[in-house]
Amino acid sequence: MKKLIIYLLYALCVVLLVHYFVKKHSSSSHQQQPAAVQESQSQQAPTLPAKKKKTPVELKSAVTKHPATPDVQPRNPTQSNLGNFVSTVPDKHKTLQSQIRPNHVLFEIKMKDWAVAFGDVLLGKLTKPLPSKTAQYKPKNPLLWPTADIPFAIDPDCPNADLIMASLQYFNENTPIRFVQIQNQKDGIVFVRGDSNCYSYLGHVGRIQPVFLSDKCGEREILHEVMHALGFIHEQSRTDRNQYVEIEWDNIQPDFQLQFLKAPKSYMVATGATVFDYNSVMLYRPNAFAKSPSLESMRSLTDSKIKPSEQGLSSGDLNRLYKVYGQEE
Ligand SMILES: [Zn+2]
Repeated sequence: MKKLIIYLLYALCVVLLVHYFVKKHSSSSHQQQPAAVQESQSQQAPTLPAKKKKTPVELKSAVTKHPATPDVQPRNPTQSNLGNFVSTVPDKHKTLQSQIRPNHVLFEIKMKDWAVAFGDVLLGKLTKPLPSKTAQYKPKNPLLWPTADIPFAIDPDCPNADLIMASLQYFNENTPIRFVQIQNQKDGIVFVRGDSNCYSYLGHVGRIQPVFLSDKCGEREILHEVMHALGFIHEQSRTDRNQYVEIEWDNIQPDFQLQFLKAPKSYMVATGATVFDYNSVMLYRPNAFAKSPSLESMRSLTDSKIKPSEQGLSSGDLNRLYKVYGQEE
């Protein structure tokens, strides 16, 4: 009997021991599962926010990179105020051209308070508010530059500095114009940031005159604005343009019709050196500001097609630069 009790106690101990080990194994395997889940979560969690943060940082650093123009000294442009003007609300029943006073230009307001004619030709800053959308102004006679050596600077905030440098180099290599970095000269051109368009005065104004550029102004637009600064007006605004093109007024968006007006005689000071050029960088494309791209805003009256240069100046542009500012080599 005593032997049986010892045997039973021994068997009970064995059962208890087995039960203890089974339970321990089972509970330890339950603890591992959440640890594995945690591990997989801890691998994903830092990856997502890191990705979200990285993208804008990379974009921003790419956008804010400016090309280096270390030798160019920034200069503040001179502000010229506009003189007296005549507020004008065009009569839709009459042609726009017939409503323009002799020797006047029709202007609108751009960049808050700048008077702009022909879409991108600066006249000066307004000193009083304009009571209407447009007004007429008798501009001073545009002047040519006294020499072909023209000082320039690029404001550090001006966009596309590399394209400006390339454009000025193009003038230096292909025309009699020599753009030189400004030192102590009182006259010159400074390229500064404008709004969403590109603007320039017509001809030599005196002191440091601005050319306003936006991010949208590429090499073609820069060449165009520099040509304005050298005194050249749009080909479609020449006083003799009716011999070469017909303006399709009904096809042009009303707000842009003033860009197709004829310029005063005085504006021909540089452009008048040569005949109408269908390939000039100063000529608008045939569907410019048309109500739809398939419509023509102007059409040729001769066998020549309206095909303004898309890259560089036309041979006619080069020819007139030599006629006005130098001798053909
Ligand atoms: Zn223009």
